[in-house]
Amino acid sequence: MKVNQRTLLVISIAMLVGLWLTITLPFQIASAQTPTPIESQSHPLSTSVLPLENIQAKLPDWARLVDIRSVNANIRLDIRYATTNNFLKKKLYPEARCILRASVAEKLSLVQNDLQKRGLGLKVFDCYRPLSVTKQMWAALPDERYVANPARGSRHNRGAAVDLTLVNRNGSELVMPTGFDDFTEKAARNYQGSGVSAQARKNSQLLEEVMRKYGFLPITSEWWHFDSTDWQKFSILDISFDDIPKPIGAK
Ligand SMILES: [Zn+2]
Repeated sequence: MKVNQRTLLVISIAMLVGLWLTITLPFQIASAQTPTPIESQSHPLSTSVLPLENIQAKLPDWARLVDIRSVNANIRLDIRYATTNNFLKKKLYPEARCILRASVAEKLSLVQNDLQKRGLGLKVFDCYRPLSVTKQMWAALPDERYVANPARGSRHNRGAAVDLTLVNRNGSELVMPTGFDDFTEKAARNYQGSGVSAQARKNSQLLEEVMRKYGFLPITSEWWHFDSTDWQKFSILDISFDDIPKPIGAK
């Protein structure tokens, strides 16, 4: 009899725990996830990494991936991951293209137009990066100091981040605190030590100022990296470059 009572008690507790989990678990899971980007709320896709096929057609115009040359052909390109001139010494993109969300590309175009009035311009190193490329980078160098962890993805994967620098009228780069993808402390915005000239600091500040003016935010660790202020609206994507239309007349 005593054993039966104990068994009954154990079963009751187990049932209560089960009931509690059933009620609260969905809330716990929901709160652990990042909010669903607005862009994916407007169509039936619910996953945060959108599958490959036909995504472009399902996106609203402002969220579509576009080639920057279709928006502003004056922005210069030096897409390092389309060459071996990058920190991995590996060609990761099939071709040198800067692809961004349409609304982000429009903002970048305004930056270029503003700079042109000052006799300057932009040169971009990296824009949208397919998630599969982030995975390749991670496989080559699984270190979060240098590469975004593909488990979380990067703002580049959302087509809402850009790496760039300033050029003069002739396309020559202005002096900056370091080269692109220099992972030393000198690349940080708040670096006050030696080895960075006053002119380099001034140029980096000018880049930050004009990018902020048109809706981009800097990060502290890399002077060349900027996020669109609304990056959270955009999902992580894995659309390959080949699926993004090229500007008319482009090779
Ligand atoms: Zn970046």
